Amino acid sequence: MGDRDPPTLQQLAIEGLLREEALAISALEVMPPMLLPAMFEVAFKNRQTNVLRAMVPIWPFPYLPVGALIKTPHLETLKALLGGLDAFFKQMDCPRKGKVRVLDLTTTDSHCWSIWAGTYEGDCSQQVVRHEQQPMETCHDSGMKNNLKVVTELKLVDNDTKEYATHLVWWAEKKKDSIHLCCLKLQIWEPCISNVIEVLKSVDLQCIRELHLRSLWIDDMAAFGPYLGQMRNLHTLVLEGITNNFRMDESQGLEEEWISTLLSQFPKFHCLQHLYIDDIYLLVGCMREWLRSLKKPLETLSIKYCHLSQADLDHLPQCLNLSELRHLHLSSLLLAECLGPLGLLLERVKATLQSLELEKCWLEDSGFRVLLPALSQCSQLTKVNFIDNNLSLPLLMQLLHNIAKLSKLTQELYPAPLECYDPSGLVLVHQFDQLCPELMAIIRTERKPKKVTFATRQCHKCFSCSIYELESRHCLCSQ
Ligand SMILES: [Zn+2]
Ligand SMILES: [Zn+2]
Repeated sequence: MGDRDPPTLQQLAIEGLLREEALAISALEVMPPMLLPAMFEVAFKNRQTNVLRAMVPIWPFPYLPVGALIKTPHLETLKALLGGLDAFFKQMDCPRKGKVRVLDLTTTDSHCWSIWAGTYEGDCSQQVVRHEQQPMETCHDSGMKNNLKVVTELKLVDNDTKEYATHLVWWAEKKKDSIHLCCLKLQIWEPCISNVIEVLKSVDLQCIRELHLRSLWIDDMAAFGPYLGQMRNLHTLVLEGITNNFRMDESQGLEEEWISTLLSQFPKFHCLQHLYIDDIYLLVGCMREWLRSLKKPLETLSIKYCHLSQADLDHLPQCLNLSELRHLHLSSLLLAECLGPLGLLLERVKATLQSLELEKCWLEDSGFRVLLPALSQCSQLTKVNFIDNNLSLPLLMQLLHNIAKLSKLTQELYPAPLECYDPSGLVLVHQFDQLCPELMAIIRTERKPKKVTFATRQCHKCFSCSIYELESRHCLCSQ
């Protein structure tokens, strides 16, 4: 049911019925099963928790993909759904017992709601079979020793998400003999580590595919060790802003303890494919240890707001765990001067690399030039981002000549050439307007550009950038 489509007669009837909540609930007993999804969808949007609580126990399909209907997690709605599951277990002898086996709070795929609402335009038959008869296999426990699975992601980020997560974990804990709480993604941004540990104790750590740890103190990290090692199906690990609240001399031991705890868990992540490291000062000089501890080649390596020493860079092309890399994102980095090893790494991954971001690395011509030969061979690239590097017009022209032949590129971001700035760093608008189309023309000689952007550095007067895509947009003070 698209929001802009005129309402169908069925929809109008359902909305009318839902205005009389008691009547709607009593009508559920006699309502044809195929009408229930449309009614559920409207009741969900209206947050009619009494109706939702009554509908879950008689849900006529094994799969209830409510995640596709959730815009913002709402605690009262969650309580109603879980209350519905409680009722489902109690009424074992009810003549109209529902079939729900999986309550999925995570899915964003709204196909089955479209099919149920009769608005799906694809091949419905296959989709109906998949969604109605085979709930998604989401975890290692798909054999389901338990009767029912609740698939979720948990965020411990702010008071609302903490309350939502805590309630769900508390409810599942009470029912753990009959419910499998399947947490696919765990996001933690929580200075109070004891709350986190409570959640970690209550969820099945082997189900977790994605873990985000953000803004934590270094002395809290050691407590994670035993739990990290049990996340054996983790495929994405995001570590962001692990900070130090101790004086340097006191924290030395803690830092070493955390690093050795973390690295000793890495070999247990047999599925890890995507590693994001953001603002972790402890990475400096340790790249070799981090990458060597991995068990399997990475698909994504993203490092932001860190410092990579020459020793770190030197190790990159030798690392077997980077040989099948598809996404290399190095942004806002202080990079060592000699970028030769980065060129060698590009050479190694030329057959697999799909996106390359070297944003805000402040590289100059001499550093960047060593990347060019390898870059022109990365034939699978679909995205490049080189914004906020200090490159001259001749170097950019050479780069674009090299890259113009890469026919799979769909998104390209380049810095405006140094010739576009006056000595104080302000943008010379006339130069910018003249040079960017000339650079774009180089790409056009080989292929039709899809999305190409040239951007200046942030203007130090108005804090905006000048952008050239198909036409120029100047920073605020040049307009
Ligand atoms: Zn699971
Ligand atoms: Zn400006």
